[in-house]
Amino acid sequence: QARPPQDFDVIVVGGGPAGSTVSAAVALHGHRVLLLEKETFPRYQIGESLLPSTVHGVCRILGVEDEMARAGFKPKRGGTFRWGRNRDPWQFSFALSPRLADPTSFAYQVERSRFDAILLDNARRVGVDVREGCRVTGVLADEERVRGVRWTGPDGEIREARARYVVDASGNGSRIHPHVGGKRVYSDFFRNIAVFGYFAGGARLPAPNDGNIFCAAFEEGWIWYIPLRDDLTSVGAVVSHENAEAVQGDPAAAWRRLIDACPEIRDLLDGVPQATEAPYDQVRVRKDWSYWKSQLWRPGMALVGDAACFVDPVLSSGVHLATYGGLLAARSLNGCLAGTLDEDRLFAEFEARYRHEYGLFHEFLVSFYDMHQDERSYFWKARKVTSIGTTELEAFVELVGGLASGDASLTGAGPAGERLTAVADDFERAVRRLPEADDLRNPLYESQTFRQVFQEGTVLQERGLFGGPLEDEAPLRPGGLVASEDGLSWVEPAP
Ligand code: FAD
Repeated sequence: QARPPQDFDVIVVGGGPAGSTVSAAVALHGHRVLLLEKETFPRYQIGESLLPSTVHGVCRILGVEDEMARAGFKPKRGGTFRWGRNRDPWQFSFALSPRLADPTSFAYQVERSRFDAILLDNARRVGVDVREGCRVTGVLADEERVRGVRWTGPDGEIREARARYVVDASGNGSRIHPHVGGKRVYSDFFRNIAVFGYFAGGARLPAPNDGNIFCAAFEEGWIWYIPLRDDLTSVGAVVSHENAEAVQGDPAAAWRRLIDACPEIRDLLDGVPQATEAPYDQVRVRKDWSYWKSQLWRPGMALVGDAACFVDPVLSSGVHLATYGGLLAARSLNGCLAGTLDEDRLFAEFEARYRHEYGLFHEFLVSFYDMHQDERSYFWKARKVTSIGTTELEAFVELVGGLASGDASLTGAGPAGERLTAVADDFERAVRRLPEADDLRNPLYESQTFRQVFQEGTVLQERGLFGGPLEDEAPLRPGGLVASEDGLSWVEPAP
């Protein structure tokens, strides 16, 4: 017997980074939000290497950046790769010269149980009704729209809750995503399986790159090496799905064997014991097949984070897509709930931006793996990527083009203006300088797509840092909308 329904503006299913972001960003505009999370936090999750756009963009907009800074997470200034034809490791920094004082030149390597709890507690703090131990089992819908969810509480009782919107942020294992856009569309290209565990320590790269993610390709795939703490390293092997049987049969043995087969990683772990503290004492397996949906919203419901899409983890884009997707959805929800623009238009903006962002990573990663799989075509492929320029991508360049170099409106504006200029200029130089720097002999950096990925991050960081982009934002597409000044809604672009 279901209890009488309750009413909310928005119900969010799942309290991972996507759910915490969208719920807090809607609650910040004064709306009533219910978040249902099936686990009791802290809970384990993989996806420990963050991007600066999450840390300095989304986290700051949500009001949690200072707490992140106090949490003692390992700062990550960039990535180190043993990848492609070059036998020596090469690396990139988020900023040209890694400086602790630079507010946007780093991200963090996080224990997800702690990071996710910080975001979920923040959602609660800004007014979200967060209920843990509550599993959503179905969606309430009629022909017109989705109107709520059915859920089971910790006491096992079945309940229903109604709202104007439901957001599915329940991750990779979502049961309700088919209510929007049917089945997932799986990539034929990225069909890998990951086996991962933890070591109680491990050697570190020389400072200042000691917090970098290190990804090393070897014959059977690639391995990530993420320094989480001095006494904790996350190590995961990603191999083709053809190895699934062997990996799933004995994950711990497969993990050890793959590490031994990759000399760069094996050497860093020489003599280091496996972690014994929970939850790091287990070797886990995840299929990390990439997928997308033909639709990301329908009247009354939207998908964000892994519930919506996933793309191969090598560039650590998962939490970025989850938090950015959550922010994009929140802008549409806040617009709808305030009645500023119509629903179709607001959600079309969400969908176009989300699709575009995912597309950038997907397209870039296809080239990245091509080069890994066929070293002879390394340069040819890189050139091919460089020349890809669709109308969408060109529109994206217009959207962000003026931002990273855009100090014209800021020069001479006093100390604050100087700082803005310095930050914008620094990031632009970091992006621009990549192909020329001595330690960056990788033609991928000449790829337009690569720059766009990082420049989109710049827009997010600027919004977080300064409350808005450094110049008037242009819409992504004709007739499109732009973010409001607080970054939490959509508005018409300036004429
Ligand atoms: P989740 O973090 O999965 O959160 C979903 C939440 O929903 C969970 O708390 C779950 O308990 C809850 N839930 C599920 N079902 C229900 C239900 N029915 N009712 C209520 N609650 C429910 N990303 C990175 O950024 N960096 C990395 O280095 C990285 N490495 C990765 C390595 C691998 C092998 C894989 C597979 C992924 C990796 N990712 C990485 C991706 C990252 O794990 C995800 O993209 C990210 O966790 C997505 O966040 P989310 O909020 O969408 O989902």
